[in-house]
Amino acid sequence: MSEGKARWWQEMTAKDIVAHAKKDDIAILPIGAIEQHGPHCPCGDDSYNAIGFARLISEKTGVMLLPCPMYGSHPYMHWGMPGNIPLTYETHIGLLMDIIRGAKVSGFNKFIILSAHGQVSSTIVAVHKLGLERIFTLSLHWYDMLRDNKDLLDTYMWHADEAETSVALYLFPEFVDMSKADKGHREPLVDDKFIIAPGQRPGPGMMYHFEGTFSKFEHQELSTGIIGDATLATVEKGEKIVSRVVDHVAELIEDIRKRYPAGVNPLAA
Ligand SMILES: [Zn+2]
Repeated sequence: MSEGKARWWQEMTAKDIVAHAKKDDIAILPIGAIEQHGPHCPCGDDSYNAIGFARLISEKTGVMLLPCPMYGSHPYMHWGMPGNIPLTYETHIGLLMDIIRGAKVSGFNKFIILSAHGQVSSTIVAVHKLGLERIFTLSLHWYDMLRDNKDLLDTYMWHADEAETSVALYLFPEFVDMSKADKGHREPLVDDKFIIAPGQRPGPGMMYHFEGTFSKFEHQELSTGIIGDATLATVEKGEKIVSRVVDHVAELIEDIRKRYPAGVNPLAA
């Protein structure tokens, strides 16, 4: 898959960053979270996944990568769970906006927030606030590329499960211990037929999993820290998911490059 070296902001000089932006002014901000991922995956799972996806996308496309902030925001039910370190929504929205405003000073005009953790509660607000400042920003979660994921996986994606563990096995196997992989389930407060799981194709009238208080708090509910079946994870499934995500984002970058050459702000007045 790789065609070149990943272009990480923190490894470059200011002069080289500014020179790069004159030729290509798209930057990707990978974001994850610090969150427990069961007995078999590390608490940095989502951030490592985001960094891994971003690295491969940059190797393929040459796009600039902003440093991953590691911490993220969380849906309400994650709070109070050991291993999790959630930022408040206001902190995370401010963090995303400050990073993107800062990168803009060096000549970047188009931003893609690539998330490996469910945090639309802050990414969507950040995107709209940046839009008010005429900063072109898209945000996507890697599992948006899975709908429907039944051609790749046996189960819909939830947490520290078949999907996430497969990706982790492909991107950073050194931190995964499959001998401890387990299963775990959730009990939604309304029937699952009303809820769109991450990786599931929406049906009429269904609500996205982040559109309601559908769950009790995880520290009251989750016994293993897993939602789904991590024992189904394989490196082969992970490779297929990762290449689907990398190809999709590469296509998006190509589309933006074609429409708006470097130096052009799509939201300019
Ligand atoms: Zn995760």
